Amino acid sequence: MEALISRIKRDGTVLGDDILKVDSFLTHQVDPKLMRQIGKMFAQKFADSGITKVVTIEASGNVPAAYVAEELNIPMIFAKKAKNVTMNDELLTAEVYSFTKKITSTVQISRKFLSENDKVLIIDDFLANGQAALGLINILKEAGAQIAGVGIVIEKSFQTGRALVEETGIPVVSLARIAGFEQGQVVFAEADL
Ligand code: 5GP
Repeated sequence: MEALISRIKRDGTVLGDDILKVDSFLTHQVDPKLMRQIGKMFAQKFADSGITKVVTIEASGNVPAAYVAEELNIPMIFAKKAKNVTMNDELLTAEVYSFTKKITSTVQISRKFLSENDKVLIIDDFLANGQAALGLINILKEAGAQIAGVGIVIEKSFQTGRALVEETGIPVVSLARIAGFEQGQVVFAEADL
């Protein structure tokens, strides 16, 4: 997706060997126009797939996921990282190791929002080692839901996530794919859309 790749080139910052900071348009401050374009790209791709829900993990997945869900005119569910007193329904849970926070947390979705009649599109901001996506896949399998695909805004193709998700038989669709970082610059691979 050209507009996204240009934006990464302009505003992205490489941190160390394997982190891209995009907090001026995606992970902290948000550019709604770009998010709307992202929403449309995924919605067009999956328009005929019979998707009933978009699922992500809080926090940064929420923004692109909400725009995709709006375009598809279906609900968006975000897996929660902390349980609170209002979550008194049956929960579906998975352990997810966070690549950026270096901690494992239990993520949860209320059982009542998912059923075997659902066909889900998973959306996330980044794909690194795939732990967030695999955690969501486990939750969705527990619910008996079908999974149409994993839609990623920025995939770091030099990490293991894409291969791990594809091993489960679920397709990955990424709007920007990063082959690596060289001298603080992003080197792109061919994107899926
Ligand atoms: P994974 O579970 O695939 O290892 O990592 C995905 C999650 O880690 C994403 O939801 C995202 O929040 C975070 N993440 C992974 N790599 C990066 C990165 O390079 N930059 C930022 N900002 N977040 C990342």
